Formats: sequence, C-alpha cells, structure tokens
Amino acid sequence: MTRYLLKGGFIVPVDGSRRIIRDGCVLVDGDRIEMVGSRDEVLPYSAGAEVVDTTGCLIIPGLVDTHVHLAQALLRGVVPDNLTLIPWLRDWVWRFLGVYDREDGKASAALCILEMLKTGTTAFIEIHLHSRYGFDGIAEVVKQSGIRGVLSKTFMDMKGYATEENIMPASMIEDGQECIREFKQMHKKWNGQADGRINVWIGLRSAGAVSDSLFYEAAEIAREYDTGITNHVAEVREDLEYYRKAYGTGVAGYLEKFNMLGERRVYAHCVWLNEDDMRKFAETGTTVAHCPSSNMKLGSGIAPVSDMLRLGVNVGLGCDGGPSNDSYDMIREMKMAACLQKVRTLDPTVISAWDVLTMATRNGARAMGKLNMLGSLEKGKKADIVVVSLKRPSVTPISNPVSLLVYAASGEDVRDVMVDGKFVVRDKQVLTLDEEHVIKQANKHLERILSKVDPSIDLLKTM
Ligand SMILES: [Zn+2]
Repeated sequence: MTRYLLKGGFIVPVDGSRRIIRDGCVLVDGDRIEMVGSRDEVLPYSAGAEVVDTTGCLIIPGLVDTHVHLAQALLRGVVPDNLTLIPWLRDWVWRFLGVYDREDGKASAALCILEMLKTGTTAFIEIHLHSRYGFDGIAEVVKQSGIRGVLSKTFMDMKGYATEENIMPASMIEDGQECIREFKQMHKKWNGQADGRINVWIGLRSAGAVSDSLFYEAAEIAREYDTGITNHVAEVREDLEYYRKAYGTGVAGYLEKFNMLGERRVYAHCVWLNEDDMRKFAETGTTVAHCPSSNMKLGSGIAPVSDMLRLGVNVGLGCDGGPSNDSYDMIREMKMAACLQKVRTLDPTVISAWDVLTMATRNGARAMGKLNMLGSLEKGKKADIVVVSLKRPSVTPISNPVSLLVYAASGEDVRDVMVDGKFVVRDKQVLTLDEEHVIKQANKHLERILSKVDPSIDLLKTM
C-alpha cells in the first residue's frame, strides 16, 4: 500500500471546526487518511511515505456533486440558452437524449467524469439513467476513472412533466416494471463494486412521470435494498401546481405521502420550498441538492438556501447538466451559491464561504450516506483529497485561502486529485482516462447524435 505525505500549504479539513492549518501536512496510508496537522505534528510519523510538495497550495476534501446528469454533457451548447425548463426539456433535451445509444451514453459519461475529476469533484450523485444510455458502460467508466459515484436507475411509468401531460417523446419513455427489473439487476451487479466506489440508487423522474403505485413501490424497494432515492423536486412553479392539484398538498406533504423523506433522500433544486417544508426536511435528514447555475440559467427561481441552512436542512451542491449550467465545475458553483443568497436577501451576511464549502463537501457526503467516510480531512476517513494551486494571477496574492477558493478560484486551479488514496489527477493530468481520446469521442458522438435527430440542425444558429 502506498503512503503519501502531502507536505506544505494550507490545509482546510472542513472537520466542523472551521480551522485552517498553515504549513500543514496530510499523511495518507493506503485508501485512508492517517494524519492531518501541522508540519511538526505529522513529519515524525511520515517515514517511508512518498512526498508530494504542496507548498503554495490549498488542500481540501474532495468535492461532492449531489446532482449530475452524466448523459447531458454532450449537449453543452447544443440546446438553446434562453428557454424555461418545460420547453427546454420537451422541445430539445428529450429529443436529443431520445436518440442516444449505449456508446453515446458512455462517451457523455466519460466527458462529464473527465471534467469533474479535473475540477476537483471526487464523488457525485447521478440523478437517473435511462436504459438507452447503457448502465453497464457508464459503470465501467466510473470504475476505470477512479471517481466515486452514485448511479441511479430511472423509475418512471407516465409521460408527463408536472401539469403538462403526455409531453415526453416515445423514445424517452420507460416501463415501470422494466425500470424495477433493471434496478435490481444493476444493483446486484454494481452496488459496492470498484472498491465500494459505486453505489446504485433509485432515480425517480419528476412529478407527472411517476404513478402513485410506482412511488410507493420505489419507497418499498429502497427500504428493502437499503439504498437511496433521488429526484427533481419543486424546481419550477408548475411542480407546486401539480402537487396541489394531484395531492392537495405542498412539497413536503407530497414526499411524505410516499414515505420519501429521510437520510439518503436527495432532492434537486427545491426552489419553491416554504418554511414548513424546510422544517420537515430538517427533521427527517432529507437533503436538498442546490443547483444555482441551472436555476439561474433556466429562470427557475432562487432556492431559499440560507433559510434552509438556518433551519438545519442538509443542503448539498449540484452542477446539474451540460445544457443547464453549462459546466461541471463545483468550485464555480460554490461562488454562484454564495452570491445568489446574498442577492436574494439583499444581505451579504446570510451565507459565508465556509457555508458553501461545507455544502460542497460534508453535506454532499451526508447526502450520499457516507459522512463517516467522506466529506472532510480527518484521521480514518477515505483519502479523497483535492490540491488547489494558488499560483495563477487570479488567485493571487495568497491571503484567506477559503475566501480565495470560493470567490476567486475555479476548477482550473485544481492541481492534484486523489480518490480512495490513489492519484487520479496529478499536475493537472488525468491519469485514469485518455483526455484526448475522450474529447475526440465526445465530438464524434455529438455529430452522430445530431445526424440522428435532424441533420439540418445548424448549431451556429441555435441560440
Ligand atoms: Zn437535473
């Protein structure tokens, strides 16, 4: 087993203490963190360890993206930028995703994971995988890349989105019982694989695409398999209208009806939560996956995140998808999250750089049900570690490193990334994937997708 000594620089353990260790060291033994502390504390125990010079850098826990669409990475810049959610899905995203085959799904996942690793994301929750994207191929990419991922199998049995009925194209519709069968098969095959880096969850489609009976079944299966559930919830106002019309209730009432509140229940967006909903989320340990860039770009609204945090809701961060963000860079997302709350409340004190860093690390780990293993740099936890270089002009001068990370840095500043004690990125080079090949494949597969959808589409004119 390899031991590494990350030596020098600032260490931000995010261990709950909000401390910053100046000129610190992190000692890694195999897949675990052995020690975190000042140079003087750690050096005497580091004999035989390979030294990695991290002077002038910031060392943070691996970032956890709690809401990702792996299959949408190929659609960055493809879907027009100026649409609200329902036409964006109905007229564009589903049309494209509906022609994917397994090779397209794999190429998109590889591109997405390449970007995530290079920008410091070490773990993610994929919202839902349609069978046409090819679960096995995507799981193979996760395994090969070294990243940690929750892969959720789509559950759906209706064709609508919220109040809009029958708007999903036939190519995107899946049969409810088929979804359950594939989930069980993939769970058996992949859950806990790749040294425990892969988990298989249930990824419900949004309200309007899941019948009551499938909701109940999903909750039951999640209990039986001791697994997580994720979904899009209260992303746009139409969702609220749907909950009210269909169930006579609000957001938390709708989830409660189907026994879907609790730990490892991760709901993306939650833009339209009221205080009662937030209290229910907090009481039950339900996670909100906040996606500020996506909510801004699609004009969905501003989630009341600072209120959620004040009331004790576990809020993680998510980059969402290629055509809604349009990046999978969690460092940029932290800044968006912080700035958006300040402007929502007209109060710059409502959220701090520490708050958003905690959301991007510990809260994400808790969302996955793995706070005992991930989310902070602490003795005994898994060695999922990111080294951010503070050498570019845009992160100079070296001052408060947490402020620099959130407000000045971007994923471009990530130098090294370790998952499970193994370097997956070193000196900005991804070691586990062939970057040139992944990019070439992505371009090739977008061409294939366009030719399948409509060869006359001119991307230079879709704005
Ligand atoms: Zn999403």
